[in-house]
Amino acid sequence: MNLLKALMMTILCAFPIMNQSDAQDGLAGDAQLAAAGSASQHLGPQEKPQAGDPLDGRVIVVDPGHGGTAEYDDFRVGPAGEREEWINLRVALKLREMLQKRNAKVIMTRTEDVEVELAERGQLAVGNEADAFISVHHNATADPEVNFPIVYFHGNASENQASVMLARAMADRMKQYLFEGTGPVSVVSDHTIFPAAGTGVLRNSYGIPGVIVEASFFTHPEEEQRLRDPDYNRLEAEAYVMALEDFFFQRHPDILEKYSTVQLPPFEVFQEAERMEPAAKRWKEDYLEGMRLMDSDADLEKALELLTRSVRSFPDSWVAGQAHAARAEIIERLGRKEEAETIRRRVAEFYIVP
Ligand SMILES: [Zn+2]
Repeated sequence: MNLLKALMMTILCAFPIMNQSDAQDGLAGDAQLAAAGSASQHLGPQEKPQAGDPLDGRVIVVDPGHGGTAEYDDFRVGPAGEREEWINLRVALKLREMLQKRNAKVIMTRTEDVEVELAERGQLAVGNEADAFISVHHNATADPEVNFPIVYFHGNASENQASVMLARAMADRMKQYLFEGTGPVSVVSDHTIFPAAGTGVLRNSYGIPGVIVEASFFTHPEEEQRLRDPDYNRLEAEAYVMALEDFFFQRHPDILEKYSTVQLPPFEVFQEAERMEPAAKRWKEDYLEGMRLMDSDADLEKALELLTRSVRSFPDSWVAGQAHAARAEIIERLGRKEEAETIRRRVAEFYIVP
């Protein structure tokens, strides 16, 4: 596979990509953890013998997102009442069962509908020197028509390539298993949605190849119904098993010290709650109109305004990376070369796919 090469190209070409947030994902609370500092660094080769089953003997931490908040949290619930934390747990328990059958050692952050601290979840991966950390989530957004997979890695792609490789494998298999191989996917840094410090679970497990997977949107009414079906949950877990297999078949590079090669200024996006409001539904129209207007020099400022609003409304959408790239071009045409260069670097580090 030419993944590495493709990644290098992505980075070198200043043509990377980015996305929106886990508006529900329980990633809430990450901001508070930002100040807590990053996890101890488990940096080193993730290599193990390649012979036999690539999952045999692997230590895999499976983290069903959220839990224990049904009483007071009306945020993470679909139109027909299905709750994200329940879906996450069903999928994660099936994933555990499948991985154990393959002789992997699975460590769960929770096995019931209970709350677990974000820092604790990530530290389970570091403390057990896990080979991979998978945080299972499902997504929500203001637009009920939106439904596609998003995978997050932590920090800068150039420093965390092992996690980027895992994220790409996850995205490919989710698309194949759950969306008949069609439609968009996003593979993005968690700094797209939490610009200051990324997500708590990935920050606290940094050094272990780790991702947050958001297979689909429970705010999409038909998808919510699919997600209630245990067979569909099983299919999703199968996709993750296949992705882990893909990942362990490849050699992956060491994870570098965070911010050791690149440090980008945060790009502020709308807060999670704002991204759930009706105004945020215009993200795609804003993108399309901005792209149309940028052809004319007379409309550059308006084009920039619309593209910027699109990425703030849905910073992990499948068009957000292109929207940022277009912003860079406009800003360069307006004579602000340095600012344009910073945006291009952000695209390269944060937006890997589509
Ligand atoms: Zn979640």
